[in-house]
Amino acid sequence: MQGAATTEELLEIHGRIRACVTCRLHVTRTQAVPGYGPVEARIMAVGEAPGEKEDQQGRPFVGAAGKLLTELVESIGLTRRDLYITNTVKCRPPGNRDPELDEVAACSRFLDEQIALLRPDVILILGRHALNRLLPESAGISRLHGERVVRDDRVYVPLYHPAAALYNGSLRETLLADMRRVRSYLDEAEGMRHAPAAPPPEAVAADQLSLFAQ
Ligand code: SF4
Repeated sequence: MQGAATTEELLEIHGRIRACVTCRLHVTRTQAVPGYGPVEARIMAVGEAPGEKEDQQGRPFVGAAGKLLTELVESIGLTRRDLYITNTVKCRPPGNRDPELDEVAACSRFLDEQIALLRPDVILILGRHALNRLLPESAGISRLHGERVVRDDRVYVPLYHPAAALYNGSLRETLLADMRRVRSYLDEAEGMRHAPAAPPPEAVAADQLSLFAQ
């Protein structure tokens, strides 16, 4: 069985991201933005790319959208300690343009490593760019938001990007409702963790035999 991930392992990935010069985005960045949150986080949120403030501060989701994301997490009884945030690309595209496909591809390995290390109970996919990266060829956000999508043993929940909900009250309500569904997915994951292990096949067989014997 795989051991618990350590902060050192996460920081090692962060260090490689900060030093990365694999794609052209390293030329225009102030600094790379690896991710933020504890290695024990049960939820990982994945956005598109760092913006201007994130590029300056080296942390993801530092503006109003980040504040809303924290509120959403708190609305289901969790705290920022339960959340690890990152993006599909770790360096800011100039002028906040969309990341190019080759930039997303170049940066993919880091996101894959972060997911493999943290093994979160739920991965929140924030917006359509992250959706394209993590669940390619799936239906759009408007259809999938709030749904649980299990792929390769991982649980994904697409959500509207919090930035889109900042000035749209109904989208904010949708996000809150979707987060309540996320709470139920987390509760199920928790229940599975604490469920007694299934008895080995021989034990089941023996038990059934004793039923027939009576
Ligand atoms: S966006 Fe990703 S691949 Fe490109 S330079 Fe930054 S860390 Fe490296």
